[in-house]
Amino acid sequence: MKCQLCHRKAELERGYCQYHSKAYSSLVSGYPKWKRTYEDLAWEEYLRRVIALPETGIWVKEVAEAEVKGMIE
Ligand SMILES: [Zn+2]
Repeated sequence: MKCQLCHRKAELERGYCQYHSKAYSSLVSGYPKWKRTYEDLAWEEYLRRVIALPETGIWVKEVAEAEVKGMIE
């Protein structure tokens, strides 16, 4: 199976390669920290804010965008 976001082989759950899986994990682990500051922050809104941050890495941005799209569909 291929990664949902690139040509690499998907290795873990959710259909991402090792790089995008790592990015997904960092998104998940960053969420509780944001929730401490913004109590009502929904997962999707969190993703949108992460995408908008200039310091967000490309891998994380790609995963966040894919997750947001997945919610809209
Ligand atoms: Zn990938």
